[in-house]
Amino acid sequence: MLQLRPTCEHCNKALPADSLEARICSYECTFCAACVDDVLQNVCPNCGGGFVSRPIRPSKNWKGENFLGKDPATTKVTHKPVDRAAHSQFSGTIKSIPPHKR
Ligand SMILES: [Zn+2]
Ligand SMILES: [Zn+2]
Repeated sequence: MLQLRPTCEHCNKALPADSLEARICSYECTFCAACVDDVLQNVCPNCGGGFVSRPIRPSKNWKGENFLGKDPATTKVTHKPVDRAAHSQFSGTIKSIPPHKR
């Protein structure tokens, strides 16, 4: 199950479970849309993969207890700001490769 982390790993902006700005990589590394575009250039600093919009877990119990009330977002903050110089070196060749070809 997705962890639904509470903030952007780089800038620590709040990303509540219903945020439309949350982006995740396949390992659930979580960043805000602005950081993905401006700082990361769609290259995850931890795995090199691309990002997609984080799905919204339903807040209401529409079916089978599968909702935020039973499976809430994690409160554990992951805040590891990216070193921009190191990231631009890391992402230099990767960013030109589409995520599905990496
Ligand atoms: Zn951010
Ligand atoms: Zn990642």
